[in-house]
Amino acid sequence: MIYDEEAPDTVVSIGGDGTMLQAFHRYKELLDRVAFIGIHTGHLGFYADWQKNELVELLDLMASSEPRNIHYPLLHVEIDTTEGKETHLVLNEFTLKSGDGTLVSAIHINDEPFEMFRGDGIVISTPTGSTGYNKSLGGAVIHPSLEALQIAEIASINNRVYRTLGSSVILPKHHHCDIVPPDLGEELIIGVDHMLMALTGVRSITCRVAEKKVTFARYRPFTFWNRVREAFIGSV
Ligand code: NAP
Repeated sequence: MIYDEEAPDTVVSIGGDGTMLQAFHRYKELLDRVAFIGIHTGHLGFYADWQKNELVELLDLMASSEPRNIHYPLLHVEIDTTEGKETHLVLNEFTLKSGDGTLVSAIHINDEPFEMFRGDGIVISTPTGSTGYNKSLGGAVIHPSLEALQIAEIASINNRVYRTLGSSVILPKHHHCDIVPPDLGEELIIGVDHMLMALTGVRSITCRVAEKKVTFARYRPFTFWNRVREAFIGSV
């Protein structure tokens, strides 16, 4: 194998799921050619199939066999601001909070008004991100073979003016949602996976399932539901 930091075919992330998020963002421009492999230095993770004491076994398999490449859906986020448009590709989730207390935003689904949100924030996750922040908010765990996005609320305030569904909503690939803050001057805190940034002048934010997918190279089977059981339930 040749070590190539600029244009690799395989990216091996050693650490935790948080490390895989960093690896993904470092190489997201190369998604058409790159396959990721995760080695976990703690417990097995959602993006890591191998533990650090299994490194030799993994290298033997990499040298002697072809992996099964699996492809997981991503989230595409377009933010329309007074300064122009910016887009983000997301592996776990996109979060929106206010920089100044309570977030107020209209949520539209497929260009029709759906609800008026007031509360701590909104989390829009991918299927593989559904076991992260989304799960702590009571969102559903989604199998990554389903091309979908999930909208979860963080502590919504419900009264006669501001009314939300309360439960998380799962949209299929051919649907999209828009988040429209009422005030251009409001500072918003935008989260793209592990990264946070502050933005003002936001007109609207559009979220949809991305056209691109992320590829993981699998050298042995480790099913999604086994990962979920091991992470959250333990031995049955
Ligand atoms: P962190 O706060 O240091 O770690 C957050 C934890 O989430 C770590 O234990 C991480 O696993 C785990 N995690 C990451 N992606 C996951 C996934 N897809 N499924 C299940 N668990 C996952 O932050 P970080 O390491 O930079 O990771 C950022 C992620 O943290 C965000 O994308 C978000 O999903 C999650 N987060 C969760 C909450 C919450 O649950 N209240 C709040 C903020 C952020 P490892 O130990 O293997 O790295």
